[in-house]
Amino acid sequence: MNLNRRNLLKIAGAAGAGAALTGGALASATTRGAAKNAAGVLVDTTRCVGCRACEAACSEANGLAAPEKAGDDTVFAARRRTGPTSFTVVNKSAEKSPAGEERYAKTQCMHCVTPACASGCVVKALEKTALGPVVYHEDRCLGCRYCMIACPFGVPKYEYTKAAPLVRKCTFCAARQEKGLPPACTDACPSGALTFGKRADLLEEAKTRIYQNPTKYVHEIYGEDEAGGTSWLYISDVPSASLTLPQDIVKKSYPEMADGALSAVPFIVTLWPPLLMGLYTFSKRRDDVAGHENSPKGAGHE
Ligand code: SF4
Ligand code: SF4
Repeated sequence: MNLNRRNLLKIAGAAGAGAALTGGALASATTRGAAKNAAGVLVDTTRCVGCRACEAACSEANGLAAPEKAGDDTVFAARRRTGPTSFTVVNKSAEKSPAGEERYAKTQCMHCVTPACASGCVVKALEKTALGPVVYHEDRCLGCRYCMIACPFGVPKYEYTKAAPLVRKCTFCAARQEKGLPPACTDACPSGALTFGKRADLLEEAKTRIYQNPTKYVHEIYGEDEAGGTSWLYISDVPSASLTLPQDIVKKSYPEMADGALSAVPFIVTLWPPLLMGLYTFSKRRDDVAGHENSPKGAGHE
């Protein structure tokens, strides 16, 4: 959606409701959605061989074009980011394992336990489901792109070049999960690097692997506490920083931190339209800059 006059009026109208909705949206995100049985994925990068079968499976499951340079390892020369047509990407670690092996990690939406993207959305276009995925309702989306600013991992991307653009990101194969199927990427992984299951169980599994191999693994479970916890959990024998997983994520959920601040801002009704315009400009610029940052040393997450 372009932020033309008609859409701004639509947004401004929604902003009136926004004051009422803001509390509701925050409540939704702070549903602290994650039921005990919510799904997750444990990524054990010591098992990942960088084959990118997960990328191909994701593209097929989501009706996207095949990944760039499929089967060509030169793709690892540059740091890659997810985009509107690539919901997951595999990157090579900047650091090799202590035994000198290359390490790789796929990145995608982390499907946070209490997602900041959903907390910021006044029309609940993003929603944490009880099964675990953070899903996107395109019919509700105003195109304000607040979710892109709110996500601490820089995940949601916008289809700027389309006439009717949408926010795009990993779906955690929510439709497959509803049918009792695992996400396509985890199904396709030939090396056992991606374990799908209940997040709570996977956390125990991650701790067990580290406990049983204390000299092998870095004593870190990335995603256990980042942003209040994420459905995707990572363990490795190299530091998470070298796997291009961002390091500046607070260990508390972002909606939890924002609740108090936003509830003290009743004038959001009048500020919302100009705020949205500002967010549009900022998120567009951030994407433009990210597009020029495809280097192995680039910071941030997909
Ligand atoms: S990683 Fe970002 S887009 Fe994904 S659920 Fe968390 S806040 Fe939302
Ligand atoms: S399919 Fe599995 S082994 Fe291959 S790149 Fe993806 S996570 Fe790694």
